[in-house]
Amino acid sequence: MGKIRLLPDEVASQVAAGEVVERPASLVKELVENSLDAGARKIWVEFVCGGSRFVSVRDDGCGMDRDDALLCLERHATSKIRHASDLARVRSMGFRGEALPSIASVSRFRLATRESGSEAGTEVVVAGGKIETVREVGVATGTHIEVRDLFYNLPARRKFLRGEETESAHIIHGLQGITLANPSVAFECRREGSAIVALPRAESLAVRIRDLFGGGYLAKLLEIDDFAADGVRLGGFLGRPGQGRRDRLFQVVILNGRPVHCLAVQQALREAYLGVIERGEHPACVLHIDMDLELVDCNVHPAKREVRLRRPEVLQRAIFDAARRALVQPQHRIAPPPPTARTQTAFVPEPPQAVIPLPEQTLVSNHQLKGTVAGRARFRFMGMVGEGYLVLEGDEGLVLLDTRAASERILFEAMMRQIAEGNAPSQRLLIPALVDIPSREHAWVVDHLEDLRVAGFFLEPFGGTTLKIEALPAWAAQKEPGRLLHEVTAMLRAAGRLPHGRDVHEAVARSVSRLAASKDFPGDEIRAGKLLDELLGCDLPYASPSGRPTMIQFSFAELDRKFGRGG
Ligand code: ADP
Ligand code: MG
Repeated sequence: MGKIRLLPDEVASQVAAGEVVERPASLVKELVENSLDAGARKIWVEFVCGGSRFVSVRDDGCGMDRDDALLCLERHATSKIRHASDLARVRSMGFRGEALPSIASVSRFRLATRESGSEAGTEVVVAGGKIETVREVGVATGTHIEVRDLFYNLPARRKFLRGEETESAHIIHGLQGITLANPSVAFECRREGSAIVALPRAESLAVRIRDLFGGGYLAKLLEIDDFAADGVRLGGFLGRPGQGRRDRLFQVVILNGRPVHCLAVQQALREAYLGVIERGEHPACVLHIDMDLELVDCNVHPAKREVRLRRPEVLQRAIFDAARRALVQPQHRIAPPPPTARTQTAFVPEPPQAVIPLPEQTLVSNHQLKGTVAGRARFRFMGMVGEGYLVLEGDEGLVLLDTRAASERILFEAMMRQIAEGNAPSQRLLIPALVDIPSREHAWVVDHLEDLRVAGFFLEPFGGTTLKIEALPAWAAQKEPGRLLHEVTAMLRAAGRLPHGRDVHEAVARSVSRLAASKDFPGDEIRAGKLLDELLGCDLPYASPSGRPTMIQFSFAELDRKFGRGG
């Protein structure tokens, strides 16, 4: 007798549930997405015990009639696509018709729903995939789904759930993405019975970001210019220079309405922020991307978290350009929306690394400094304070300029330019230096002698883990050669992957600029003017290559406010 059997439907659903319902957060996501597909204007979410005990999602969407309320629990029952060819142009959040049957097969499940216009609603109660009751009920128009005791019938799966805090954090993080993807939908969320978020319908993404994270967070973002070409439309916000984070929690990428992980986007951002934030850090972002449906395949991951792009380079180019444009004009891009009656916002994230506790108006904009006149004509040199801080008076306020950060930026860009042109000046050491470096780094250096040579480092293996340094990048030639090499290799190791080409050049340029930047800036007007000119000639003048600000502005308006003038 053959060994192959068709799985009973119930078992098939539980297997599918393994993919769709990874953890409580995934079921919250599926249910909320269904509500969005149903045209909800408001969605209420509740959960208890990290969602493993109880999850409820209620919406004011289109609701279902009795037949559909039963049909939606069948596997592969969906109202959203009809033919395989529809898969290529999916607009809705759902389309697989798997979520509800999967969830209902691994929990105690209750669905109550009513279509607008129909008198009575329908309630369906399911336990472990078996329908227990179906009856008429009085409910508001829309759909209300409650899920209790997730995985109660699959103890092995239940064991894999993490602690309550972790599961709750996953739910909240997932919801954040969804609320940012849908500013025009109102959301309320309760955890263990207490409201943790209440978001009114917002007329713009900026308002939603402010309602979610607060005005302080919004002020740390730059709005990018809307872009539309080649089947790609792009809009949203990016982190300011120097405000990177070690994790990607604050990178929200919304592709065709769906929060996704997209490697292509991450790569483009990394490129665009080279030398703007610390290496190994990531910029915050809330990007709304719309791509022609033919260019995106969202049917590669059961939870649709990952997407495959057919022409990633088009999107990458758009993101890179938009980011660079935003980064060179870091100010006046956002007028923070006026405060509304404060919503109770408790998606309280830790602030995105508030490295720079600056007043609202921080960096000085290109326009302001450069004008159609030469930039510095508009500045008065007032003097130098502390260790190398220039004090300048501009038309709009007081500017402090860090001469170290500024000269690092200037050296860095000059060096990157020379490397790109293939003529990074290099200086031979009178006596070659012998340097020992750890074996891991040694192997890496030996593999990258050519990249290093292009950047001005002439090295030769000298037996064991010793290297002979014959020449150094010119600016750094006065410095201790061993230290420079250690810096470069440490920086590359911190990058955490095997770098090559541009990465190597950047590491060298950063180390050199850090070591060579002037530590004792003579505080005279002529040199200050020259430094300012050179800085403003840079592509990214507002941050040092390691992401520190070069200039901080205190606007007169802000000073007036602080001193209580004109009130
Ligand atoms: P999918 O979303 O992939 O179609 P689901 O299993 O999530 O599959 O849902 C099955 C069907 O149930 C949907 O296609 C939709 O017609 C209906 N449905 C689910 N949730 C809702 C809801 N909140 N409001 C109205 N209809 C819903
Ligand atoms: Mg669905």
